[in-house]
Amino acid sequence: MKLNLLNPRGKRWPDFYGDRSSIRNRVESNPAVKELIDCGLLLTKELNTLLLGFLIKNRRIQELITAPTTINDKDWSEKDTTEVIKIYDEQTIGKSKDEGKKILTHLIDNHQKKIASEKRKKRKVEIKSISDDLEDELSNFRTLKNLNISTLIHTNLYYCPDCAEIFRKDTFYSGKCYCGKQLSRVSETNQDSIACISDDVEIFVKNNMWLEHGVERQFSINGYNTACGVNIMGSSGVSHEVDVLAESASKNKRIIGECKNREIDISDVFKLYGQMADTGCNIGFIFSTGVVQDPQKSRQVFRLASSKNIRIIDGILENTSERLNELILN
Ligand SMILES: [Zn+2]
Repeated sequence: MKLNLLNPRGKRWPDFYGDRSSIRNRVESNPAVKELIDCGLLLTKELNTLLLGFLIKNRRIQELITAPTTINDKDWSEKDTTEVIKIYDEQTIGKSKDEGKKILTHLIDNHQKKIASEKRKKRKVEIKSISDDLEDELSNFRTLKNLNISTLIHTNLYYCPDCAEIFRKDTFYSGKCYCGKQLSRVSETNQDSIACISDDVEIFVKNNMWLEHGVERQFSINGYNTACGVNIMGSSGVSHEVDVLAESASKNKRIIGECKNREIDISDVFKLYGQMADTGCNIGFIFSTGVVQDPQKSRQVFRLASSKNIRIIDGILENTSERLNELILN
């Protein structure tokens, strides 16, 4: 493994060596992610709720886009059976048994196509409606916070006008739809521009990078030199995944911060204590979105942490930025 010099900016202390994952470098260089990091609202409930909502809605859109639209038993209702039997009865008057069989097969086949097409049309409406929700929510948030973040990207869907199947995604190229219709020009398709989030934004939210960057910023605005999401080599030769590094020579603090998007437990404290010892950090912080519910467990976690020079800031999204500053600085 090639190790690079990895220090928070403006460091005055012994060097850190380590590396960063290439995925992290890619995600953080995405302009939409950069905007989120720079907006200063990552540790607010409002932005968190917005982003988690985006994640769920985006997943639903991807599910709908990739779901097969063939029909199954559930799609075939009693009403459909009645409808087919009625036509069958009308069309088979005076016909032989063999002819009747052929007519029935044909009727069922046609009716299945009709059901599948209706199912696809409903899917088209649902995709568009979720996409509109995403855009409206972003727009409302931008207005509310007077903020210029883009977050969403757009993808084009090209639908077959006959069967409402998604013929192409992102890029149009000519060909035959699975229903048999030849589609040679874009204008022959029905197009929708769909809002969604990029893979990078999804990773940023899903992998809790938002929390780490929110915490890093909190140290940074308080005059610390910081680094976020680094693997640093401990004195033992073991590499440690560190969420946030913050140091201030004037305050004589070299801090390692661990971020948990859940309730913490004793093993989190022990693990961080081990990392502090191995990396030469004299103070530890554990930031968590959860709050330890069991009072006895909570007492033990906090007692252990304070005996190891580790501060716990739990329920982090419940705090204002000013309160977080106080908690970090005191
Ligand atoms: Zn088609």
